[in-house]
Amino acid sequence: MSPTQKLADLFGEFPGIGPRQAERFVYFLLRKNAAYRRALALALADLGRMVAQCGFCGRHFTAPGGRSDARAGAARLCAICADEGRDRARLMVIEKDVDLENVEKSGGFRGRYFVLGGLIAPPERAPEERIRIRPLCECVRNAAAKDALSEVVLALSPTTSGEHTMHYVRDALQPLAQEYGFRIAALGRGLSTGLELEYSDLETLKHAVENRK
Ligand SMILES: [Zn+2]
Repeated sequence: MSPTQKLADLFGEFPGIGPRQAERFVYFLLRKNAAYRRALALALADLGRMVAQCGFCGRHFTAPGGRSDARAGAARLCAICADEGRDRARLMVIEKDVDLENVEKSGGFRGRYFVLGGLIAPPERAPEERIRIRPLCECVRNAAAKDALSEVVLALSPTTSGEHTMHYVRDALQPLAQEYGFRIAALGRGLSTGLELEYSDLETLKHAVENRK
């Protein structure tokens, strides 16, 4: 396979990028100078070397000593999960890192988070491969056993796939909620239907988090 085709295939895996756009990216890179391509290659290498995934919530963060700094066997935690002052009785399930950052910026939530890593669309054949549902159940079970979990908040976008995912996650967590006695809440009213959480304004988001039901 030619280097251009190989790169186009890689770009083609990006969310929302079709084969035509992937090819345009490749031609764009061919027109740029070598220094730009080197900087891009270096930034990609640093991404793998310095960005770690939190062992609790699953979000990505820049690890001070790089990811290789992790002590053997010890999961690295992001600043939020490592913060002893967070309310350990509450866990918010969100789709992606940027949603977490928005809720955090809105200041409406003081518990901990869990990043699901995606949403599932209605005719999904293997949802457990598309979202981190198994790690979520494990995380919730551990938190319920250890930290007296009182509430899991499902904070997903009010879109079709967001609603569908919410039902799926709720069903998966229901047996644990019964076993450990925590409640499963969803965001309150006010969010615009069809609008992804990452585009909600912070005030509306804060209101929806505070008025969860
Ligand atoms: Zn974390």
